[in-house]
Amino acid sequence: SVRVRFAPSPTGPLHMGGVRTALYNYLFAKKHNGTFILRIEDTDQTRLVGKAESYIKESLEWCGLNVDESPWKEGEYGPYRQSDRKHLYRQYAEQLIKEDKAYYAFDTAEELDAMREKAKKAKMPNWQYNSVTRNSMKNSLTLSEDEVKAKLDNNEPYTIRLKVPRNEEVRFHDEIRGWVVVNSSNIDDKVIFKGDGMPTYHLANIVDDHLMKITHVIRGEEWLPSAPLHVLLYRFLGWEDTMPTFAHLPLILKPDGNGKLSKRDGDRLGFPVFPLQWENEETGEVSMGYREQGYFPEAFINTLAFLGWNPGTNQEIFTLSELVEAFSLERVGKAGAKFDAKKTEWYNQQYLRTKDNKTLAELIEPQLADNKIEIDRDRLYSIIELTKERATFPRDILKEAEFFFEAPSTYDEKTVSKKWKENTPELLNKVIDRFGDTDYSASELEVAFKAILEDESIGFGKLGPQLRVALTGKGMGPSLFQICELLGKEETEARIKRAIE
Ligand code: GLU
Repeated sequence: SVRVRFAPSPTGPLHMGGVRTALYNYLFAKKHNGTFILRIEDTDQTRLVGKAESYIKESLEWCGLNVDESPWKEGEYGPYRQSDRKHLYRQYAEQLIKEDKAYYAFDTAEELDAMREKAKKAKMPNWQYNSVTRNSMKNSLTLSEDEVKAKLDNNEPYTIRLKVPRNEEVRFHDEIRGWVVVNSSNIDDKVIFKGDGMPTYHLANIVDDHLMKITHVIRGEEWLPSAPLHVLLYRFLGWEDTMPTFAHLPLILKPDGNGKLSKRDGDRLGFPVFPLQWENEETGEVSMGYREQGYFPEAFINTLAFLGWNPGTNQEIFTLSELVEAFSLERVGKAGAKFDAKKTEWYNQQYLRTKDNKTLAELIEPQLADNKIEIDRDRLYSIIELTKERATFPRDILKEAEFFFEAPSTYDEKTVSKKWKENTPELLNKVIDRFGDTDYSASELEVAFKAILEDESIGFGKLGPQLRVALTGKGMGPSLFQICELLGKEETEARIKRAIE
């Protein structure tokens, strides 16, 4: 059965691209009644960021991407954090050495730097530790057995490098890109294990995918260059038969299509690139998060789903379970997907309209408290009902509804200069009178208003905008008669009177 994993490294906040990888893995797993696994890849201890792991957990939870197996929900194949699996990796590195598929290397960082420097001067900037250069380096292929033993006994620092063969074809089939073929001479002898007892990403990743019985590796395009090396590792470890199927997702591009969307772009261009707000502990810098900006997780997920995939129909709004239903890797493209922040806002607006008034009321409660607005629940619900069509974010509701809580102190200039005529006060007095004869329900108010227009032989434009600006101070807004109903007789009359004074 299908088993897929999302395998982030907790080196910082998960960004949009990471969440999209998680989403596609989730969709693929659920579509095939499979298992969605979260594995924390924390072998590079120097790059760890303390709160990154809990950030990953919270982000996936916020997005509603339920994980079947993870460090917090152990399954049969645990542990699910690589630092807790440390004891597992060494044997594979040693097996490869024994079989002459890997070797010890004793070159120090300084020696390697010097080597690269020398190569650069000789106009060979792409120096690699490989089948050609390894013969002149300090490793178990060039040193005698005794020398190697002495160094190891002496606890001299070492790494274990993969012995990548020369001039062999490495090929694999990618679900999105088709056949990928690389000549092994272009792959360097990557370090797979370090003297500190930790495997590098490459070895740990392959060992874990194998032990966790992963069937499909769905990940970002940035890992495509590593894939041939991974195929070699599967071959060398004798696991070729159960090698997972690869699918490398297209890049997410900047809004102008010019290059990959980076973690920095968000704050620079004015939209979030992180699911949740993130504070950099070193700099104190705070980056926006979709959650804190007032986005619904459904809108965020819907946006991400379309960054690289499309359903092949005109449908744009998809719930998570509809996405599961519709998703397939065949409909994931190779070309980079341009990110469009406006589209995400549009999704949010669509989802906001589907929320019931109670949910929205809870979301704006803190804002009401901040503004010291006390309001009866039913009245709040009515106000929300009336204004939510015009809101993109929950916070917009309060902005749209401002005038319900406070009489206008200024009047929209354009409306006043264009529409406010000499006879406007007189007409508005008629509104007061006629409205006074109704029960102040929107439907009766509308009838009364139309009667005035008829009596006076005038169109809506001679009285509607004037009444609106008198009541709300604005040139546009929700239904006029519903506004009057909600304001009530007393307040409606008071506001009209103030405006015509
Ligand atoms: N730890 C890698 C990352 O941070 C995982 C890449 C993969 O999925 O193989 O993205």
